[in-house]
Amino acid sequence: MKINLIKIKSSDELKKMKKAGKLLATLFAEVSSYVREGKSTKQIDTFVYKLICKMGAKPAFLNYHGFPASTRISINDEVVHGIPKSTRLLKSGMIVGIDVGLVYDGYFSDSCHTYMIGKVSPKAKKLVKTTEEALYAGIAEMKVGKRLGDIGYAICSYAKKNGFTVVRDFVGHGIGKSLHEKPQVPNFGKKGTGDQLLDGMVLAIEPMLNEGRCNVKLKSDNWTVVTTDRKLSAHFEHTVALIDGKTEILTETG
Ligand code: MG
Ligand code: MG
Repeated sequence: MKINLIKIKSSDELKKMKKAGKLLATLFAEVSSYVREGKSTKQIDTFVYKLICKMGAKPAFLNYHGFPASTRISINDEVVHGIPKSTRLLKSGMIVGIDVGLVYDGYFSDSCHTYMIGKVSPKAKKLVKTTEEALYAGIAEMKVGKRLGDIGYAICSYAKKNGFTVVRDFVGHGIGKSLHEKPQVPNFGKKGTGDQLLDGMVLAIEPMLNEGRCNVKLKSDNWTVVTTDRKLSAHFEHTVALIDGKTEILTETG
């Protein structure tokens, strides 16, 4: 018999994960109204850090493998892991991915939203909208009895249908007592393949879609990942649980 290595959370653990998710959802509601033209990415990071502390939680990314901030802010051709800076100002036309993780009472939540600053190009708008929709296409496949490949297939085919590519070098993940747990959740896959989805599983599903080619590379700061063709990239993420046979998006407001 194959031993399933994906952690199944108890109802007590799920309760705690719901709380961590709700805090992050509340945080993003505040971030949405804070993010605007003229703010530096460092100002946003400080705003988020203070909010997380006020909630009695801890930032998950700060010092994680040496990352120097609480948020990862990735602009335009930056895919993920951008480092906040006081000299990096938000300008009209930019698309800005803000990725935040927190830990509360021993359990993690992880979420990302891409914001459009001022007037953005129709192509950028379409990329951002499609990436968010691709996330929800993936979440729709997170059902008891379905398989991991169903999630990836749904995300990838939705992206392709809209003329975009998915990043293959970075993937979603299981989440719980650790920020990154098994399994990996790729944004591509084959229907009906991979691990079976069971009640009590919690996954961070996080499509990264590119305007051009899917290829990415690491910048010289050793953190920021950019598209090799310098075209746009967008990223959305939610922490999603299977609880009593139902799909619950833990990091969604409302
Ligand atoms: Mg994240
Ligand atoms: Mg994540």
